[in-house]
Amino acid sequence: MLQLVWFKRDLRVHDHGPLVAAAEAGRVLPVFVHEPEVQQADDFSPRHAMFLRQSLDALHTALRERGVGLLELRGALPEVFDALCDALPIAAIHAHEETGNAITYARDRRVRAWAKRRGVPLHERAGAGVVRRLATRDGWHDRWVATMRHPCARAPEVLVGATDDELCRIPASLRFARPDGTHLVANPREHARQAGGREQAESLLHSFLHERGEDYRRAMSSPSEAELACSRLSAHLAYGTLSNREAYQAARTRVRELRDSTAAVAPSARTPLVRWQQSLVSFASRLEWRDHFMQKLEDEPELEHRPFSPLYDDVWPHEVDTMRLDAWRTGHTGFPLVDACMRSLEATGWLTFRMRAMVMSFASHYLWLHWRHAGAVLARAFVDYEPGIHWMQCQMQAGSTGINTIRIYNPVKQAEEHDPDGTFVRRWVPELATLPTTDLYRPWDTPAMVQLMHGLHIGGDYSLPIVSPVSAHAQARDALHAVKQQAQRSGESARVWQRHGSRRTPLGTPNR
Ligand SMILES: Cc1cc2nc3c(=O)[nH]c(=O)nc-3n(C[C@H](O)[C@H](O)[C@H](O)COP(=O)(O)OP(=O)(O)OC[C@H]3O[C@@H](n4cnc5c(N)ncnc54)[C@H](O)[C@@H]3O)c2cc1C
Repeated sequence: MLQLVWFKRDLRVHDHGPLVAAAEAGRVLPVFVHEPEVQQADDFSPRHAMFLRQSLDALHTALRERGVGLLELRGALPEVFDALCDALPIAAIHAHEETGNAITYARDRRVRAWAKRRGVPLHERAGAGVVRRLATRDGWHDRWVATMRHPCARAPEVLVGATDDELCRIPASLRFARPDGTHLVANPREHARQAGGREQAESLLHSFLHERGEDYRRAMSSPSEAELACSRLSAHLAYGTLSNREAYQAARTRVRELRDSTAAVAPSARTPLVRWQQSLVSFASRLEWRDHFMQKLEDEPELEHRPFSPLYDDVWPHEVDTMRLDAWRTGHTGFPLVDACMRSLEATGWLTFRMRAMVMSFASHYLWLHWRHAGAVLARAFVDYEPGIHWMQCQMQAGSTGINTIRIYNPVKQAEEHDPDGTFVRRWVPELATLPTTDLYRPWDTPAMVQLMHGLHIGGDYSLPIVSPVSAHAQARDALHAVKQQAQRSGESARVWQRHGSRRTPLGTPNR
């Protein structure tokens, strides 16, 4: 009999409870299913396909080294499992619980119902700190810490798999043909983006904890510096090439080492060591935020599509304003920092948190675009797209939760604070590269004479702002404050906080 290990967004052999349980129970059949419904959805893009491909290849290699390969199949679920069970003696299915989008949520329910009907035991385990069927948010933090401190499951050293005879019985129609490698060079633009696979995850984790992370706390909001100073682990955590627990435990070990080193050196030499510790403590708290946000979607999967409170149902127009959405998506709004961020995102697939918050706020507040429309653009663009974080953050930055402080980012002020010498804007908006920094963030105010001197025509070479910054800001502020007051008066805010609010920070805190 075979123990089927169903890999989803947990593409690793380390800290993988279901793989260990399957190996203890007998022969294993590691399976990944390419589901057309998932891969043709509007939140899946070629950059996700690339990261997935690289991570699957790495997983296949890791499994092969242990004695079995990864079987890649194609089709809808549970039909694929049903056909597999007709062909092979499957004793049980082992998988992680997934907090995904509406499609994977519905698919998991179908698979569960099918397994029950077919009499195949389906053993699902918690992926990380997200709790299924959570009764209350009280005590969530302590529970999360305990889960993170629990020892990681050791990768099995040897695995025994299906025989060749058995594998031959799998119908050809189910098999997914693994590409031969040429796809990896087919589109050179893809190489500007992060690569998938365990090796990359381990190398990023190590370089962050030992070389790059010292300035994390200070530099994380700078669009240029964050590229190196942040961990850059998000896509790996999203596809599970590294577990949240592995990252947390590695950070904790490193903080302990740094504390010991600090105690051993003279007070005058302690500053950088203390900076390191503060940065890594901040990093570890973000790993908790990760699960905190995902828990919200786990508890209320509908939040991918609808606001936290019905009071926000009709705040933004449901019709998409294509002209505005396209100008924002392609980086042609006339606001230099917004345009630089959106162009850099298109090329690299990543933005630091502060810039994500700023572009989302700009779309929702200045352009008055529905958070679903703007969020869908970002979901396709972020290599690290993780529904549980993404849609919660989109709503929070748009201001549709009713429990967080409404924060309308001013793109000029953000540029002055986080790109003070204009490095980032000049890199991604080369039309403006020659403008002096004093004019760079408000090019619409650049005197005609200065434009002439720099051979630049604002309104020609670079767009004029597509909305008036002053009136757009004021309209958004008034509209959102009115709904928030209604939410507070009607008890909606209290209801949302009771269900989803972090107990570590009071109601109204901006980021959680
Ligand atoms: C509108 C918007 C959409 C976002 N969409 C996503 C998304 O789809 N996927 C995603 O992983 N993150 C998302 N984030 C959160 C955050 O911006 C990214 O996790 C972070 O920038 C990734 O870079 P990093 O791995 O270097 O992060 P680091 O700063 O090094 O943080 C380490 C890890 O902690 C987690 N984390 C960090 N910040 C947050 C946060 N604010 N909320 C929740 N978890 C966090 C991530 O898993 C991250 O990899 C979004 C933020 C906003 C404002």
